[in-house]
Amino acid sequence: MLKGVAASPGIAIGKAYQYIEEKVAINNRPLSAGDVEAQIKVFDDALAKTKEQLTGLIEYSGKKLGSDKAKIFESHLEMAGDEELVGDIKENITENLMHPEAAVKKTTEKFEEIFGALEDDYIKERIADIKDVCSRLIKNICGVPIKSLNQVTEESIIIAKDLTPSDTVQLDKDMCKGFCTDIGSLTSHTAIMARSQEIPAVVGLSDITARVKDGDIVIVDGSTGQVYINPDETLLRQYKEKQAEFEEEKQRLRKLVKLPAETKDKARRVELAANIGSIEDCENALENGAEGVGLFRTEFLYMDRSVLPSEEEQFETYKKIAQKMAPHPVIIRTLDIGGDKETPCIDMPDEMNPFLGWRAIRICLERTDIFKTQLRAILRAGNYGKVRIMFPMISDLSEIKEAKRILISAMTELDNEKIPYARDIEIGIMIEIPAAAIAADILIQEVDFFSIGTNDLVQYTLAVDRMNEKTSHLYKPFNLAILRLIENVVSVSHKAGKWTGMCGELAGCVKAVPILLGLGLDELSMSAASLLKVKSMIRSITLEQAEKAAQQALMMKETERIEKLLEQLSDGF
Ligand code: PEP
Ligand code: MG
Repeated sequence: MLKGVAASPGIAIGKAYQYIEEKVAINNRPLSAGDVEAQIKVFDDALAKTKEQLTGLIEYSGKKLGSDKAKIFESHLEMAGDEELVGDIKENITENLMHPEAAVKKTTEKFEEIFGALEDDYIKERIADIKDVCSRLIKNICGVPIKSLNQVTEESIIIAKDLTPSDTVQLDKDMCKGFCTDIGSLTSHTAIMARSQEIPAVVGLSDITARVKDGDIVIVDGSTGQVYINPDETLLRQYKEKQAEFEEEKQRLRKLVKLPAETKDKARRVELAANIGSIEDCENALENGAEGVGLFRTEFLYMDRSVLPSEEEQFETYKKIAQKMAPHPVIIRTLDIGGDKETPCIDMPDEMNPFLGWRAIRICLERTDIFKTQLRAILRAGNYGKVRIMFPMISDLSEIKEAKRILISAMTELDNEKIPYARDIEIGIMIEIPAAAIAADILIQEVDFFSIGTNDLVQYTLAVDRMNEKTSHLYKPFNLAILRLIENVVSVSHKAGKWTGMCGELAGCVKAVPILLGLGLDELSMSAASLLKVKSMIRSITLEQAEKAAQQALMMKETERIEKLLEQLSDGF
């Protein structure tokens, strides 16, 4: 049995699919003239294989992943048939006497150099296509297996060193039943995305990639963090039973979907909302009784693509989400790229400390072109539902003022262009930097609401990297300092007649419910999969119990004692 971090609850059983990029060795020695013909044949065979794979992928993704993904492979296929590209590669083989894989590499670099400098979105996309197709071609030439999450065609457990957040979003739930990774932590975006898609996952297993072979049977217990490789019949049976119990529990909680998230004595009701990363997540949110979207991580619209999403594309997405969720509110968080979320469409420097670096609002206030495009799209979508704007990673009043100045200039532009938009849109900020939590009384004067992002707030307050499994034991959301910060934020917002929500992972933690209720949070936003469990906990305690728990916790000096108190209160959940 292996033990890692229980990143996304549920049990998955299936065959291992090793998702590991194998290195390709490029032969840079010159070809002998007599070898040219044979090497042209190697290239032609690899090209035919590439086209065959892409045709299969178009068909598969068209059926499984939607026409958007299929279109990507269609343009790759088109590239693979491009005479200029193929001609250039062949010339490298015949004239420059290069091995086919080196020839492909040289052609890729040449095209990149010629077109890379052009500021044209269409051309940028084509270069990305050329790079993808050429990388596939090189692997086919060298006989290196191509592993892709889009190509998992039987029910599998993905085994990887790490998965990026965008890998996780792409997972086809019908085929990828669960995943296990060597590295990772509970609040990495990969884990967060797994939870929101209800894919059982265990991360931070150190060396699972070395222990599992393709085809091994793997049990993933995402609730306890346990993983079994090639289990015997008895264990397999036990886990199938556990899997059934997990499903039954989910069904039992379904009865709560329509009931309010109020305390047992009906003295306090909170708004339970969902964190989403795409339109598709809305369905799941509504099925689990979400009363809105408390956090739409818009950065997922920017990932896995070489060209920035246009205003129109963003507007369509935001509008559809606003409409789907109406009359409930939708909080659209402006681009929070950086940290563990990257995009090829924004040039981001390599940084020593990306989480402390150029990310989120810091990028937006510099790249005002990107920011304003997004703000215009959000403002326009505001006409189709109850949309709110939220700025991430605020550390200083000046950032809010600057962001609002750009928002007003986006409004003026829309006015001048006679494009309708929501004028009275509510503006909020995330409280995820200690400086913002401490100076919340000042910041609240500029905004309508706060949402506490505990994922970052905990890492910055305790100086513990949220991504690092080595220090995960130090990542303690119930540390007294964190509770005091939350208390301060809620209290100053209430004094100002405003409200505070929470959209960090702590909001979806059943154990935290008494304290969060007791501290007076008005809204809790979480992965859809956590909504009903949290609601069930809220409905099982009185406001008095919750307030008492919060007061007791605030007086305790040791984190362990606070944790114990909360464990007792949530016993049985
Ligand atoms: C947070 O930091 O708590 C948060 C919700 O934002 P993210 O996890 O996307 O950084
Ligand atoms: Mg954050």
